[in-house]
Parts: sequence; structure tokens; C-alpha cells
Amino acid sequence: MQGLMQTKALLISTLLEHAATHHADVEIVSHVDMSTCVRSTWGTVSSRAQRLANALQGLGVAPGARVATLAWNTHRHLELYYAVSGMGAVLHTVNPRLFPEQIAYILNHAADEVVCFDLGFAPLVAQVASQLTSAKAFIALCPRDRMPALDLPAPLICYEDLIDGGAERFDWPALDENTASSLCYTSGTTGNPKGVLYSHRSTVLHCWTACATDGLGLSAQDSVLLAVPMFHVNAWGIPYAAAMCGAKLVLPGPDLGGERLFQLMRDERCTFSLGVPTVWLGFFQYAEKLDPEARAALRLERVVVGGSAAPRAIIEKFEHLFGAYVIQAWGMTETSPLATIGNLLPRHEGIALDQRFGVQARQGRAIFGVEIAVFDSEGRRLPAGDRTPGELKVRGPWVVSAYYGQQPGTELDAEGWFATGDVALIDADGYVQITDRSKDVIKSGGEWISSIDIENLAVGHPKVKEAAVIGAYHSKWQERPLLIVVPNEGVQVTGEEILAFLQDRIARWWMPDEVVFVDELPHTATGKLLKTRLREQFRTHRLPTDTAAG
Ligand code: AMP
Repeated sequence: MQGLMQTKALLISTLLEHAATHHADVEIVSHVDMSTCVRSTWGTVSSRAQRLANALQGLGVAPGARVATLAWNTHRHLELYYAVSGMGAVLHTVNPRLFPEQIAYILNHAADEVVCFDLGFAPLVAQVASQLTSAKAFIALCPRDRMPALDLPAPLICYEDLIDGGAERFDWPALDENTASSLCYTSGTTGNPKGVLYSHRSTVLHCWTACATDGLGLSAQDSVLLAVPMFHVNAWGIPYAAAMCGAKLVLPGPDLGGERLFQLMRDERCTFSLGVPTVWLGFFQYAEKLDPEARAALRLERVVVGGSAAPRAIIEKFEHLFGAYVIQAWGMTETSPLATIGNLLPRHEGIALDQRFGVQARQGRAIFGVEIAVFDSEGRRLPAGDRTPGELKVRGPWVVSAYYGQQPGTELDAEGWFATGDVALIDADGYVQITDRSKDVIKSGGEWISSIDIENLAVGHPKVKEAAVIGAYHSKWQERPLLIVVPNEGVQVTGEEILAFLQDRIARWWMPDEVVFVDELPHTATGKLLKTRLREQFRTHRLPTDTAAG
């Protein structure tokens, strides 16, 4: 027997309609560049997205067509999020930090028909345009008086002209909720990037997680500083979730420097923010120098840290300097991304702060909608609470089934699990602890050493700016940890000092065999440590402990 409830589809356009109806005056603050701030509202986003959808339709953008963006977090990018997906086309957010050859590759792979870009990316567009095989139009995200002079193989259109020319009302189509809505490519440290194709249904379901109390707890009370880019996994779904609950959005544009973030948080009375650890390291370089009175001007309550493991030092500083709670979240492009979220349980009530930081330093518990499990090298599922790390697998309605261009289900095993490539433990309370990417784990004498754990401790040293740990060749142990450190500017620090700091904090056999200092570490386009490059760089490195090596 079927239930007798309404079957209204879960569509992205309904999020915007809701925000425009119930939160029309809530502000969207957009810093387009260093000197231009545009203040808008959910009501205005809705009316401009409708004009934009009409204009794009006029340009020949049909249902299913891909529209690419090379853009920072701005109101125009937000309007594109809603207009393109809402009309049934697919928004392809492109990471502008990829190499130009990779950008050309993914624009062609996705067969993008329209390429929208911020002015700062005009040189990049000029560089790749001639290699593009499907682009029929380019849209510069600016007003007429700022239009760049570019020689492109297809028409160059001004975004604000499009909006001005678009008819006022657009009836969002009643799409099937499984229609593709947006496309995001993984950064692919090896091989070509792969496209993850989200649907309206997966996107809307994922929003509820962001708004749930034991999710990210986003609500109409929040003013959100979106310090995670809209070109990476839909900025963790927040541009959609903010419409669902009517939160205020503060879009910082290209400047994610510590000073700018602090000013925006202060001036826009932000309660909530999200970003990767590198962004927060930069934030604290600025914020720590301020006097307590200046810091007291922030109203920050919660900060989501994800994308890479949140070092305990970041969790502690947010608490001690701002009284803000760090929610660590784990996920990936393939999981939309929210999958596990670090909230507390009743049994943590009243625990010492130090112990609480230990809980927050884990990657959180599975939220409803995402099943998680750890499997050993023989593919056996490990029981919860087992202390052996294994491969983390996930499944659920906002987890990828196949990459763009593949048959549905291609990436899943017989039980429907998607293998994440992350190595993890799940403790008895269900908290996940990511110990490594499977490719990065250090195998020393048959035992595994977590590079992430050592890195996180090392960045807690006051003289360390950033740290990476890789397995270096050792003739007796196969691999031993090599700690590569970028010191803070202008400080003198020795390897002995850092090893002494780690001494009582990790098991003896986890202690790095050597500490080397470098000026900077290589990163991927999404800001993660690029360990393939480091391993290549240190491939012939001889550890001082390897006395048997020839
Ligand atoms: P991406 O698809 O670029 O978002 O990268 C996803 C990968 O980032 C995951 O598979 C993890 O390796 C890593 N990652 C994301 N969040 C965390 C976290 N909180 N702790 C540790 N690693 C993380």
C-alpha cells in the first residue's frame, strides 16, 4: 500500500522560493573585489536569478546544458547557483587554482557551453579559450563599465547586461528531483580530475544536515562568513542550506587573508564560519596579535573546519580567544561533502575542556543519511570500537554512485559502498578518526604510522607554521617518518626542539627519524598538502638513522 502524502519534488528552486518568501530581507553581503562591496538580500537574489534564467534561456542554454563558473564567493556566483540549476541546466563550478591544462581538460570533458568568469580570471580565460571545444559564449561577471578587452573565439557577454535584459519572472520548471544540478571535479593529485554530478534531490537532502542541530546547526539566527570557496563542493552546501533556513551570507570574494576575515566577522556580526585549516592558520596569524579588547568585538559562536584534519591548536585557539566551538567535519567531493560531523553526546556533559578538545579533534560521527564503515585489507568489515585502522567506506543518498560519464553504480562495490581512499578508525562512540589517505600512510616494519597525527601535533609548536610527514625509505623498517617543517617567519628553531615537543605526545616508534626545514610546502588546488610531490622530492633522501643504507 502506498502512502497518501504529497510527492512534491526536492528542487533547488524551492529553496530560493522559500528564502524569497520567508526571509526576503535577510542580507547577502558580497565583496566582489578588494574595493567593491554589494549588499543584497535573498529577495534580490531571487529576482535577479529569475532574470538571469530568462536571459540564459535566450542564449540557448537548454535543460541539461553545462554552464561553467570560474568565480570567487560573490552574489553573482550565488545567483548563478540558483538560476542555472533552477532552470534545469547544470552548474559546473571550476577550481581556478588548477593548472590551465587541467582547466581546459575539465571544461572540454564536461562540454561546457557557457563559461562565466570573474574579472581576475580574464587572463586565465584568454589563455585556455582557444583550446575549448564546446564553449558558445563567455560571460564576464561584472557591470558594463568594467568589461575586459578580450579576444575570444565565442561572444563575450556582460553579466549585468544579461540581468538587465532578462524578463522579470521565470517559472522554475517542475523537474524530476533526480535531475543533475551541479558538477564539481575532484582535484586529482594523480591522473585526470573526475566529475561528481550532484542532483536536486541529493542537494536538498544534504541541506537538512547542515541545518540540523546535530548537523551544522545552521539557522535563521546565523550570519555566516563563507570562507570556503563556492568552486569546491558547492562551498560545503552552505549557499543552499542558508536559503533553506534564511541565514545571512557574507561572501568574502578573493581575499581570504586573516585581517580581511576578521574585519568581515566583526563588521557583519558573524556567528558562524567555515573553512579549511590553512585559512584558519592565516586567520590566527592576524588575530593572535590583536589585543583582547579588539578580539572581543567578534560574536563568533561556531566554526566548521574540514577539508583536512583540524589541528588541535586551531580548536583550542578558537575556544580560548573567541569562545567559539569548532565543529570538525569530514567529507569529500564525492559525499557532497557532509558525511561525519563532530558534535558532542550527552556523556560529554561537564567533561574537562582538555578532554573535549580530544573529541573535537576527531572527524565526528555519521549523520543520518550517511552510513560509514571501516574494512580491513581483506575487505572484512571491522566492528565499531576496533582499534585497527582500515579503509573507510560510505553510502547514502548524497554519496557518489559513478563519476561523470560513467554508468550509474560504477564506483560502488556489491553492497553499494563507495571506497573513500581514507584510512580511519571508528571509536566505540562512533567518532571517526581519519589517520591518513591510504596512499600517504607510513608503513614502518609492517605497522602503520599516521602522518596526520604527527602533523597536527607539530603545528601545535609555537614556532611551526606548517608541517608535513611522509614515509622516507629506511633499509631496516622499509619506511620511517620524515617531518618536513615550515617555521614561522623570522624565528630560529631546531629539529631537536620540535622532537622534544613531540616526545611525550606520541608513541616512541612514531617519532620522526629526522626533521627538515623548508620555506614552503606544495599544495593541491584545494589547499591540501601535495604529498606525491614531497615524496618525489625526498625520494633519494637518506635518513640519519639508516646506518645500514649503502
Ligand atoms: P576533496 O574531495 O577535495 O574535498 O577531498 C576529500 C578528502 O579530504 C577526504 O577524502 C580526506 O582525505 C580529506 N578530508 C576532508 N575532511 C577532513 C577532515 N576533517 N580530516 C581529515 N581529512 C579530511
